[in-house]
Parts: sequence; C-alpha cells; structure tokens
Amino acid sequence: MDIKDRFKMLTDELANSKRRLDFDGFLARIGRHDLSGKLTANTPWVYFSQEVYREKDLGLKGDGGLGVLAGDISKIAEDLAMPLTVVTPFYSGKSRQALFNYWESDGYETLIPGEHGFEKVGKVKLKSLAYSEIPIAVYVKRRGSVNIITLYEPNIGLLYYSESNSDHRLYQEVVSGFAGYQALISAGIEPAIIHMNEAATVFGAVARLDDICSHGVGFDDALSAVRDTAIYTNHTLLPAAEGVFDIKQFEQLVFTNLKNDAVIDWVKTKFGNDGKIRLSTLALEIAARRNGVSLLHSRLSSQNYRDRAGNSVEFSNVTNGVAGRWIDDGMLDLLTDKSAIDEYGLPTDDFASRLNNISIDELRDIKAAGRQKMNQILKYRQDQRGNPIHIPEDAILFDYKRRLVSYKRFDMIFKDLNRLADILSRNNAHLLFTGRPHIGDSNMIKELHDILVAIDSNPTLKERVHYIQNYDEEVAEALILGGNCAVNIPIVGQEACGTSWMKDIAACKILVSTTDGGVADVTPPVYLEVNGVTYEQEAESLYSRMQQACEIIKDDISYREQTIHQIQAYLPIISGSRMIRDYLNLGFDNN
Ligand SMILES: *Cc1c(COP(=O)(O)O)cnc(C)c1O
Repeated sequence: MDIKDRFKMLTDELANSKRRLDFDGFLARIGRHDLSGKLTANTPWVYFSQEVYREKDLGLKGDGGLGVLAGDISKIAEDLAMPLTVVTPFYSGKSRQALFNYWESDGYETLIPGEHGFEKVGKVKLKSLAYSEIPIAVYVKRRGSVNIITLYEPNIGLLYYSESNSDHRLYQEVVSGFAGYQALISAGIEPAIIHMNEAATVFGAVARLDDICSHGVGFDDALSAVRDTAIYTNHTLLPAAEGVFDIKQFEQLVFTNLKNDAVIDWVKTKFGNDGKIRLSTLALEIAARRNGVSLLHSRLSSQNYRDRAGNSVEFSNVTNGVAGRWIDDGMLDLLTDKSAIDEYGLPTDDFASRLNNISIDELRDIKAAGRQKMNQILKYRQDQRGNPIHIPEDAILFDYKRRLVSYKRFDMIFKDLNRLADILSRNNAHLLFTGRPHIGDSNMIKELHDILVAIDSNPTLKERVHYIQNYDEEVAEALILGGNCAVNIPIVGQEACGTSWMKDIAACKILVSTTDGGVADVTPPVYLEVNGVTYEQEAESLYSRMQQACEIIKDDISYREQTIHQIQAYLPIISGSRMIRDYLNLGFDNN
C-alpha cells in the first residue's frame, strides 16, 4: 500500500464526537460564502510549524506561545470543521524540569510517535551531501477535518536543540519542510494555502516552488503562484534573533533536496554580502502575504524588516486569539447563555451589552469552581521544595506563568521582598509562579535559584510564595482557572502578542500588565496598567497595582465592573474563531 491508500484509511479520532459545526455555515457567518469549496480534504489549508503544543490530545509537547498558537489553530479548525493539515516534526524526546536545592536540572524522556496515537503511513527520503538517502517516517493523526502530519527519524532530537544557526537546527527545518511537503504530495494533498508559522518553516514553500517548476511551469510563474498562496506569520521582533545560515550549510542539506537549478539559483540570490542567508528574508521573498501577531508587533515588524533589495515590507496584522480549550466550560456556557458569543465562538453583534447581564454571583461561582479545579491539579504537582500545593479557598491568588526569559521580567515581582511580603500578608494573598529557564540559560537558572533562596529566608514569603516545577499546559490551565489576578510585565515592545493574559481575562481575573503585545491592541487601558520610565518606577507601579487589585477583588461592585470591562474590551480579540476569520481574509482576497 502506498501513502495515499494508507492516508485514506486513517482512523478519525473524532468520528464519534457529537458537536461538529459546518464549515460552510462559518464561512456564511463571516461573509465569505465565496470560499465555499475552496478548502477541501485534498486541498486544505496547510500549516507548517516547528512547534505544536497540544500534549493532552495530540501528544505533542511544545515550549511556548508559538507552539500554543499552532495547537490552538489546529483545535479551532477541528471545532469549525475547517479542512486543515498541520505539518510538524515529531521530536524524539522531551525534557522535564526538576529542581535540586533550587537549581534547575533537566530530565529527559524519549518519545516515539506510535506510542502517542500516530499512525505510520510510510516514509519519504531526504538527501544531503554526506548521505544519499535519509529515510524519514511519516506519521499522521486524523481529527475530523484536521490531519496532523509528523515527520520522524530517531536522530531528530529535541525541540530547539542547539543554536538557531546550527547544522542540526537546519536539519530539523529541512525535515519538516522538504520531507513534509513530500508527505503531502504522496498523500494526494495539494495545499490551497501554505501557512508558515515563523520563518523556520520556509522550506515547505521552497519545496512547493521546486515541485511546481518540476511540472514544467516556468520559474517566474511558479514563484508568483507560490507567493500568492503563501502566508508568513512572524513572531520575532528582532530580525537578529532568527536562523541565519551560510552557503556551505545550504549546499550540504538544502540544495541537495531541490531538483531545479532555477530554484537553487534564486535561493542563492537571497544570500547577503556577508555570505549568509536569513530565513526571514527567504520567507519574505516567497510569501506575498505576511503578518505580525498584534497591532504593535505588526507595526514594529513593518519598521524593522527589509526585503533582499533593502525595501521596507508591510506586515498585515492578525492578533493571536485562543482556542476554547483555555476557557473553562462554565464560562463558555455563561457567555453562550448570555448570547455574548454565538455557536461559532464569535462575539455577537451586541455582546458588550449582553455581558452587562452577568451577575456578581455568577462570577464568584466561576471563580470558586476554578479554585477547586486548580487545587485538584496542584495536588499532584510539586512546589520548589517538592511538596504538593494547596491554596485556601478564601485567599487572594496572584499568578505569574511564563517562560523565564529576561524580557518577561519575573524578577520584577521580587525586586522588593518586604514590599511583596507586606502586600501578601495584608491581603491574605498568595503568589504562584511558574516557568522554566531555557535549557542552558545559566544566568536565568541562577536568578531563579537566588530568588528561591531569598523566598526561603523570609517567613511570610516562605508561607505565601510557591514556585511550581515543570511549567506545562496542565499547570497553565490550573493557574488560569484558580488565580484572581494575573501579572504580565514584559518590556514594552518585546512581547509579540502573548496569550496567557487572554486566558486570564476569560477566566474573570484582574489583569495587571504593561501595555505590550496584544494587550496594547486596546486603548486606553482597561486593565491595571504597569508603567514608568525606569525599571524602579515600573516595579513601584507593579506593587501599587497589586495592592489595588486586592482591593478590587474584595469588593463585589468593583470586581464585577472591572472583570466585565476587561471582557467587553477583549472578547473579540480573545476569540480564536475571529483569528481564523482574519487568517482566511489574509489568505484569500475578497473579490
Ligand atoms: C498560553 C501559554 C503560553 C503562551 O504564553 P505567553 O507567555 O502569554 O506568550 C505558553 N505556554 C503555555 C503552557 C501556555 O498555556
């Protein structure tokens, strides 16, 4: 049997599930009936991503927001019955964080796709200068209208293994791009759109260009066909942070997988005078459609990026949204009952006034249930000392949950330990924080260690501040549901969008935040804004906002007013279906 036959016979994991929407109905709802029939099982939207974060039901573990976005897009497509195929590597392992004496160490677990419900449909082959044949296994999972194609080879290694300009990283990118494209073609799939989630996936589009040329189409026509149907979604604010390779690396691994000299010659023209190629430059050249992921980020991208000729490029904007998986069922029911969202998960025309019908009792009930669910999960997790965590029902809970990278500034919360202790004890409050330093980020590992030691030596903080080990989707879910006030303090201009804060707003929490990423889509601020010219001023602002949040949470009238204002301002942004609508409009011109 070949790949095509096996592909037809895949088990549909959603075959017996009840609620399935009709994609044509969604297209009608968003005024795009013209797209009816454009996306089909054989001509789907194809989404390339080096990271997909959907561990519970797909068995794919990611690292951060980029992977959560990919996971959410696949989940929303599933719910809307949108024909979508995801192409991603299957990493052969994952690391898990554990603390020893407050020092981070990493455990390692080997992963095999067959053990995570993926079915093998065959293999495809790559070439390098060193090896004439590198077999790559193709595994697929089918969930309704969505296929997840993963490419596996035992040496593919960990997600984000090694440096972004390393041979190994290029290899992982070649695997998903070139082997992924071959898998699509072998399965009889002709992409209607190739969507690149970051420039690292550009080889999917390059493979398509090569394939069209191989069918006898002239290079220029092939390029314009690919350009017009390719989307490049950028998440990176600093072009310098992206993958950069030299010609030797491309000769070793990339050109060996291209059949047409015209394509190789074209790629060669994208190298700069320094003899290096940036994948973002290649992505800009091969995709006529491109976007940033919040208004601020799209504007900064348009200012920062240049094409190969040095001309500025325009980025459209599609602010990230989140899938229903991040919103508590009770809250989704409430939003539906109040007619604030429709069956497709889009805000209704009069959602803002509908939201005014939510009562304080309904809000408090949701929070009480959320706290219980959180404690249920945290019973099986470990704090910094290895103990399970339980937060009393009547305590106010602050939470901070994100990767520990310096621009997100978790350290600011701990700038003045006495001040923090005072806020927590005065308000019967606790702080849960979680997040992993990047493997090998020794500065951040030390910073986490030092802060945990300092917490230990302060009796109030020791009782009221809990670090949760091994941040993952489950911990995220727990804190989203159980917290009362979320803290989000990236350096303004450095968070592409961020989505944790959306999940927090949808969980009826008070948001304390800098005006950055997607938070800045709405002006003037409806959240408790952290601002200041210097770090010290911002820290001062943070503490007074935390105190203010406690006062709001304790008062029924202010609490109801504040949470409803936040949801009124952000519901259209939070809606994952709104994001899908925006991507459809970006991918297909509205004639
Ligand atoms: C939502 C989520 C993210 C994205 O968080 P931001 O820091 O807001 O970008 C990352 N990891 C997990 C587990 C999440 O649930």
